[in-house]
Amino acid sequence: MRASAGAEGAHGQATSASTNLRRATGRGPVTGKAVGPEQLGSGSVTQHPIGVHVGPGLTEDGELDDGGPLARAAEMDADGVQVFLADPQGWKAPKPRPDTADLRDGDVMVVVHAPYVLNVATTNNRIRIPSRKLLGQHAAAAGAIGARGMVVHGGHVLAKDDPAVGFDNWRKTFARQAEDGGFAVPLLIENTAGGGNAMARDLETIARLWEAVGEFGAGFVLDTCHAWAAGWDLATAVADVRAVTGRVDLVHLNNSRDPHGSSRDRHAPLAGGEIPTELLVEVARAADCPVVLETPGDAAAHAEEISLLRTALGG
Ligand SMILES: [Zn+2]
Repeated sequence: MRASAGAEGAHGQATSASTNLRRATGRGPVTGKAVGPEQLGSGSVTQHPIGVHVGPGLTEDGELDDGGPLARAAEMDADGVQVFLADPQGWKAPKPRPDTADLRDGDVMVVVHAPYVLNVATTNNRIRIPSRKLLGQHAAAAGAIGARGMVVHGGHVLAKDDPAVGFDNWRKTFARQAEDGGFAVPLLIENTAGGGNAMARDLETIARLWEAVGEFGAGFVLDTCHAWAAGWDLATAVADVRAVTGRVDLVHLNNSRDPHGSSRDRHAPLAGGEIPTELLVEVARAADCPVVLETPGDAAAHAEEISLLRTALGG
């Protein structure tokens, strides 16, 4: 379930994903102004906000679960949270949250992760059409809580399909939403670990995907566990992605329980998996953007990982 869930938020709709993700990402006061590297000396903004995936943070009745996501962030001293707005394995539209105002108005970076079930690339109308609808609904709800963006997996087409149809389905997803004023928050497309005919597993398909969606300002999420599973060289992953997308907007910094190239998606703690921890730190450093941990472990373990990263990144 932690497989990958992430989304960042953004307040506006026309702004680029990266602008929004970089904005006021620190633990200090939110100024409402865009935060650029030149402001890093202010002491109120963290250059590399580190968030943790916390799930929906709600009980089945829609109440805050033990204080909800913001309580989790405080517990772990995290700069941000990544949340689901509904069951990630379901097709339900999000409901209003009791912590909407606190998430929207606070200084904790909020990223939303779209449900896993959606697949806007597929040639199957009975999946693709509800997927587009669900994506729009979740993006609107992400906007309501001030999320800086919404993470969505690249999806896939069937083995018998021409991948070109999947890339074009992605293009249509953005183009049709643009006719309705665009998504309420930037969409951040995440690389995936495995699967045949996946849209965002390998660099060459990501390049083709970006030919289809780049013009719409799509953002990119680099998941280190997925990249490792897909056999990428993590030492050059950030540069390799930037060469085809021009951007990395968010890193899902996860270790892996499986060997390089396994195509398996089992996350491990930062210092407890097959990927050397220093290599993970190098990815975060090279990406120079917000990070979300989707690692297993309790609040104390996450607090330790955040502390390790802050120290390593000099933040
Ligand atoms: Zn992920």
